[in-house]
Amino acid sequence: MVSIQNSTTFLKVTLTSQKMSQKTETSNIEQLTTLDQQLLWHPYTSMSEPSPQYLVEKAQGMNIYLADGRVLTDGTASWWSVIHGYNHPKITQAIQDQTALFSHVMFGGLTHKPAIKLGEKLVEISPAGLERVFFSDSGSVAVEVAMKMAIQYWHTQGKPQKQKFATPRSGYHGDTFAAMSVCDPVNGMHGMFSSTLTNQFFLAPPPQGLNSPIDEDYLISVRTLFEQHANSIAAFIIEPVVQNAGGMRFYNPLYLYEIKRICEAFDVLFIADEIATGFGRTGKMFACDHANITPDILCVGKALTGGNITLAATLTNDKVALGISQKGGVFMHGPTFMANPLACAAANASLELLGSYTLDKLISTLAQNLIDALSPCRALSSVYDVRCFGAIGVVELHEPVNLKTIQPLFVDEGVWIRPFGKLIYLMPPYIASQDDLNKLGNAIFKVIKKIRG
Ligand code: PMP
Repeated sequence: MVSIQNSTTFLKVTLTSQKMSQKTETSNIEQLTTLDQQLLWHPYTSMSEPSPQYLVEKAQGMNIYLADGRVLTDGTASWWSVIHGYNHPKITQAIQDQTALFSHVMFGGLTHKPAIKLGEKLVEISPAGLERVFFSDSGSVAVEVAMKMAIQYWHTQGKPQKQKFATPRSGYHGDTFAAMSVCDPVNGMHGMFSSTLTNQFFLAPPPQGLNSPIDEDYLISVRTLFEQHANSIAAFIIEPVVQNAGGMRFYNPLYLYEIKRICEAFDVLFIADEIATGFGRTGKMFACDHANITPDILCVGKALTGGNITLAATLTNDKVALGISQKGGVFMHGPTFMANPLACAAANASLELLGSYTLDKLISTLAQNLIDALSPCRALSSVYDVRCFGAIGVVELHEPVNLKTIQPLFVDEGVWIRPFGKLIYLMPPYIASQDDLNKLGNAIFKVIKKIRG
């Protein structure tokens, strides 16, 4: 066991003296990871039984280079954000250029070119009618901002009682409190936080299947909820076409089109959470484009900066923005690092790269390669379903996996894949080649066979 005091000194010495490109000594790796486990909380982990963490030395293109010399092909794009691969020279250059000018200035009373350029670009590429942009630091905060916008809008319209939200189960919108209140009640752990979380209105998840026929009863359930409660509902919030962290479920985009119309009929705003699906992941710039709808409010994050620096944005239309602003009203939110210039510069470079791709062709090739890579898993009896949509490939098992057991097996196969529950999925960087995807698909096949036979 390394004492914290000694190991902190050790850490300073190690990190300053060590060239990061060099392979780290095994004993150093052990000391660093032990220190990590003593000090640092990782996502969704215990401090008394910490999960193993792999020390990363560098990342480049499709690869994550571990300090012990192993190289992992990445199937996750670091939680779906690193769409152009790691350390893309154009994005790195843009960040360096901006660093040479200034890394940050407050956004209250000051502005800068990277933010203005990014705002203009986001309005240009998002569904027509979204004209106003609010920058924040993370996806969860973008959702908080969207929910506040909806409530504040109705307040200025003389309907202050419209404070609640309607949403389907199996959704995921973030880990902050308002965002958590619209996550799936089970995955979002509503029980544990029940006295703090607002009770929202939950609908069934949209029936699965991109092409499955529309279930009229589902639409009736939405209409019935609004008939009874629209006077207290500020907005409906949904992840368009793909419910991601709540179950990797794909549904027919026509539901979005129909629900948007029902929202309009009942004076309920429509919030699209495209934090996971935005910037091409489903084959169109935004998943809403599959349904030809413009939401009242759109949240983006994750891939906005090509996964380089945390940044999110909440876009809205004139109706909401000017509604909030009428009679001297101001929108009540203003983070310290709003529109951070480095993040905006990274986002501008990322969107330029995205604009240089033939997006539909790129993603349809990826989609076909994902299908080819994952289809063999259908033959395994422990596999319940294999489904792919755009650059998303999912292998759903009958039973949940144990992350602590399965993670090292993937690392042994030279891949970085991070399953949850019953789901082993790939959401790779868009630069993934057929060989990369075959390697990832083979690893999934092999590991499932190993643990489940
Ligand atoms: N909404 C969706 C659809 C997401 O997938 C996520 C993150 N997985 C979030 C919101 C929260 O984003 P962040 O982790 O950046 O707070």
